[in-house]
Amino acid sequence: MNHAPAFTLVIAALLGTWPAMAQEITPSGFVYPTGVSDNGRGARFLATAPHYTEGRYHLGTDITVSADNPDRARIGDRVFAVADGIVVAISTPGRGWGAKNTALTALHFTAEGELFYAIYGHLAADSVDFVLPRAVRAGDTLGTLGPYPGGVHLHFGIYPGSRLPERIVGSAPLPDDYHPGMQFNLLGFVDPLVWIETRAPQNSNP
Ligand SMILES: [Zn+2]
Repeated sequence: MNHAPAFTLVIAALLGTWPAMAQEITPSGFVYPTGVSDNGRGARFLATAPHYTEGRYHLGTDITVSADNPDRARIGDRVFAVADGIVVAISTPGRGWGAKNTALTALHFTAEGELFYAIYGHLAADSVDFVLPRAVRAGDTLGTLGPYPGGVHLHFGIYPGSRLPERIVGSAPLPDDYHPGMQFNLLGFVDPLVWIETRAPQNSNP
Protein backbone atom coordinates (compact mmCIF):
# COMPACT_ATOMS: atom_id res chain seq x y z
CA MET A 1 0.00 0.00 0.00
CA ASN A 2 1.30 3.41 -0.93
CA HIS A 3 0.41 6.46 1.14
CA ALA A 4 2.60 8.89 -0.80
CA PRO A 5 -0.08 10.64 -2.91
CA ALA A 6 -2.29 11.48 0.09
CA PHE A 7 0.75 12.60 2.03
CA THR A 8 1.80 14.82 -0.87
CA LEU A 9 -1.66 16.43 -1.00
CA VAL A 10 -1.56 17.19 2.72
CA ILE A 11 1.84 18.83 2.39
CA ALA A 12 0.67 20.80 -0.65
CA ALA A 13 -2.40 22.00 1.22
CA LEU A 14 -0.26 23.06 4.20
CA LEU A 15 2.04 24.98 1.90
CA GLY A 16 -0.93 26.73 0.33
CA THR A 17 -0.08 25.42 -3.12
CA TRP A 18 -3.12 23.18 -3.45
CA PRO A 19 -5.26 23.15 -5.57
CA ALA A 20 -2.77 24.57 -8.11
CA MET A 21 -2.18 21.68 -10.45
CA ALA A 22 1.09 20.21 -11.55
CA GLN A 23 2.49 21.66 -14.73
CA GLU A 24 1.67 19.73 -17.86
CA ILE A 25 4.58 18.58 -19.97
CA THR A 26 4.65 18.28 -23.77
CA PRO A 27 4.95 14.77 -25.23
CA SER A 28 8.62 15.56 -25.92
CA GLY A 29 9.38 16.91 -22.43
CA PHE A 30 9.00 20.71 -22.39
CA VAL A 31 6.92 22.39 -19.70
CA TYR A 32 3.91 24.19 -21.16
CA PRO A 33 4.49 27.90 -20.46
CA THR A 34 1.28 28.46 -18.49
CA GLY A 35 1.28 24.90 -17.19
CA VAL A 36 -1.53 23.58 -19.39
CA SER A 37 -1.52 21.95 -22.81
CA ASP A 38 -4.73 23.72 -23.81
CA ASN A 39 -4.08 27.18 -25.23
CA GLY A 40 -7.66 28.36 -24.90
CA ARG A 41 -9.06 30.68 -27.56
CA GLY A 42 -6.05 32.87 -28.18
CA ALA A 43 -4.78 33.93 -31.59
CA ARG A 44 -2.65 31.24 -33.19
CA PHE A 45 0.69 31.57 -34.93
CA LEU A 46 0.29 33.68 -38.11
CA ALA A 47 -3.28 34.66 -37.24
CA THR A 48 -4.69 37.69 -39.07
CA ALA A 49 -7.95 39.61 -38.72
CA PRO A 50 -10.65 38.76 -37.67
CA HIS A 51 -8.75 36.49 -35.27
CA TYR A 52 -6.03 39.07 -34.75
CA THR A 53 -5.35 42.81 -34.91
CA GLU A 54 -6.42 44.37 -38.21
CA GLY A 55 -3.49 44.94 -40.55
CA ARG A 56 -1.03 42.70 -38.70
CA TYR A 57 -0.01 39.08 -38.49
CA HIS A 58 0.91 37.21 -35.35
CA LEU A 59 4.39 35.82 -34.66
CA GLY A 60 3.51 33.66 -31.69
CA THR A 61 0.64 31.86 -30.05
CA ASP A 62 -1.58 33.50 -27.43
CA ILE A 63 -2.45 31.30 -24.48
CA THR A 64 -5.58 32.35 -22.64
CA VAL A 65 -5.74 29.60 -20.00
CA SER A 66 -3.37 28.53 -17.25
CA ALA A 67 -2.76 25.99 -14.54
CA ASP A 68 -3.90 28.62 -12.04
CA ASN A 69 -7.13 29.29 -13.97
CA PRO A 70 -7.81 26.53 -16.50
CA ASP A 71 -11.03 28.20 -17.71
CA ARG A 72 -9.72 31.71 -18.33
CA ALA A 73 -6.33 33.16 -17.42
CA ARG A 74 -6.36 36.00 -14.93
CA ILE A 75 -3.98 38.71 -13.81
CA GLY A 76 -1.41 37.13 -11.52
CA ASP A 77 -1.37 33.68 -13.12
CA ARG A 78 2.09 32.17 -13.25
CA VAL A 79 4.20 31.76 -16.36
CA PHE A 80 6.85 29.04 -16.37
CA ALA A 81 10.17 28.46 -18.09
CA VAL A 82 9.59 25.76 -20.71
CA ALA A 83 13.06 24.31 -20.11
CA ASP A 84 16.32 25.07 -18.36
CA GLY A 85 17.78 28.22 -19.80
CA ILE A 86 18.94 31.78 -19.31
CA VAL A 87 16.73 34.86 -19.34
CA VAL A 88 18.70 37.27 -21.49
CA ALA A 89 16.35 40.20 -22.11
CA ILE A 90 13.51 42.06 -20.44
CA SER A 91 11.73 44.50 -22.73
CA THR A 92 10.83 48.03 -21.72
CA PRO A 93 7.28 48.11 -20.32
CA GLY A 94 4.71 49.09 -22.92
CA ARG A 95 5.68 48.68 -26.58
CA GLY A 96 2.58 46.63 -27.32
CA TRP A 97 2.96 44.30 -24.36
CA GLY A 98 0.63 46.41 -22.17
CA ALA A 99 1.44 49.69 -20.43
CA LYS A 100 2.76 47.99 -17.29
CA ASN A 101 3.77 44.72 -18.94
CA THR A 102 6.98 43.41 -20.33
CA ALA A 103 8.26 40.51 -22.41
CA LEU A 104 11.04 38.20 -21.29
CA THR A 105 13.36 36.50 -23.72
CA ALA A 106 15.07 33.32 -22.60
CA LEU A 107 17.68 31.19 -24.32
CA HIS A 108 16.98 27.47 -24.25
CA PHE A 109 18.46 24.40 -25.95
CA THR A 110 16.96 21.34 -27.55
CA ALA A 111 18.32 17.88 -26.79
CA GLU A 112 20.04 18.04 -30.20
CA GLY A 113 21.88 21.17 -29.09
CA GLU A 114 19.88 23.65 -31.17
CA LEU A 115 19.67 27.07 -29.53
CA PHE A 116 16.42 28.96 -29.54
CA TYR A 117 14.94 32.02 -27.91
CA ALA A 118 11.53 31.89 -26.27
CA ILE A 119 9.53 35.07 -25.81
CA TYR A 120 7.15 35.24 -22.87
CA GLY A 121 5.02 38.36 -23.44
CA HIS A 122 2.48 40.36 -21.39
CA LEU A 123 4.05 39.61 -18.01
CA ALA A 124 3.39 42.22 -15.35
CA ALA A 125 6.61 44.23 -15.18
CA ASP A 126 6.48 44.33 -11.38
CA SER A 127 6.32 40.53 -11.24
CA VAL A 128 9.74 40.24 -12.84
CA ASP A 129 12.22 40.93 -10.10
CA PHE A 130 15.57 39.60 -11.24
CA VAL A 131 18.66 40.89 -12.95
CA LEU A 132 20.09 39.66 -16.21
CA PRO A 133 21.36 37.24 -17.18
CA ARG A 134 19.33 34.90 -14.98
CA ALA A 135 19.63 31.11 -15.12
CA VAL A 136 16.30 29.32 -14.75
CA ARG A 137 15.25 25.71 -14.44
CA ALA A 138 12.41 24.08 -16.35
CA GLY A 139 9.16 24.94 -14.62
CA ASP A 140 10.51 27.92 -12.67
CA THR A 141 8.07 30.81 -12.39
CA LEU A 142 9.31 33.64 -14.62
CA GLY A 143 6.62 36.12 -13.65
CA THR A 144 2.88 36.52 -13.72
CA LEU A 145 0.40 37.71 -16.34
CA GLY A 146 -0.49 41.38 -16.40
CA PRO A 147 -3.63 43.18 -17.57
CA TYR A 148 -4.30 43.51 -21.28
CA PRO A 149 -7.18 45.30 -23.03
CA GLY A 150 -8.09 42.36 -25.25
CA GLY A 151 -7.98 39.90 -22.34
CA VAL A 152 -5.29 38.47 -20.11
CA HIS A 153 -3.02 36.07 -21.97
CA LEU A 154 0.53 34.93 -22.51
CA HIS A 155 2.11 35.67 -25.87
CA PHE A 156 4.51 32.80 -26.49
CA GLY A 157 6.94 33.04 -29.37
CA ILE A 158 9.96 31.01 -30.49
CA TYR A 159 12.89 32.24 -32.53
CA PRO A 160 15.45 29.51 -33.32
CA GLY A 161 19.11 30.32 -33.74
CA SER A 162 22.01 31.70 -31.80
CA ARG A 163 21.38 35.35 -32.58
CA LEU A 164 18.90 37.34 -30.52
CA PRO A 165 16.16 38.86 -32.70
CA GLU A 166 16.90 42.48 -33.56
CA ARG A 167 13.63 43.52 -32.05
CA ILE A 168 11.52 41.47 -29.65
CA VAL A 169 8.24 41.52 -31.53
CA GLY A 170 4.95 39.70 -31.21
CA SER A 171 3.53 40.65 -34.60
CA ALA A 172 4.34 42.40 -37.86
CA PRO A 173 2.41 44.60 -40.30
CA LEU A 174 0.79 42.84 -43.22
CA PRO A 175 2.46 43.62 -46.52
CA ASP A 176 0.70 46.03 -48.87
CA ASP A 177 -0.02 43.22 -51.32
CA TYR A 178 -1.46 40.96 -48.62
CA HIS A 179 -4.06 38.50 -49.78
CA PRO A 180 -5.45 35.44 -47.98
CA GLY A 181 -3.24 32.41 -48.48
CA MET A 182 -0.07 34.34 -49.19
CA GLN A 183 3.24 33.26 -47.66
CA PHE A 184 4.34 35.42 -44.74
CA ASN A 185 7.82 36.54 -43.88
CA LEU A 186 8.23 34.72 -40.56
CA LEU A 187 11.06 37.06 -39.50
CA GLY A 188 12.81 34.01 -38.06
CA PHE A 189 9.92 32.87 -35.87
CA VAL A 190 8.37 29.39 -35.89
CA ASP A 191 5.12 27.94 -34.55
CA PRO A 192 6.01 27.81 -30.85
CA LEU A 193 3.70 25.01 -29.77
CA VAL A 194 4.77 22.79 -32.65
CA TRP A 195 8.38 23.48 -31.66
CA ILE A 196 7.98 22.41 -28.01
CA GLU A 197 5.76 19.48 -28.90
CA THR A 198 8.11 17.96 -31.49
CA ARG A 199 11.55 18.60 -30.02
CA ALA A 200 13.01 17.47 -26.72
CA PRO A 201 14.55 19.94 -24.29
CA GLN A 202 18.11 19.88 -23.07
CA ASN A 203 17.89 20.11 -19.30
CA SER A 204 20.80 19.72 -16.94
CA ASN A 205 20.55 16.99 -14.32
CA PRO A 206 18.92 17.90 -11.03
ZN1 LIG B 1 0.32 37.38 -29.19
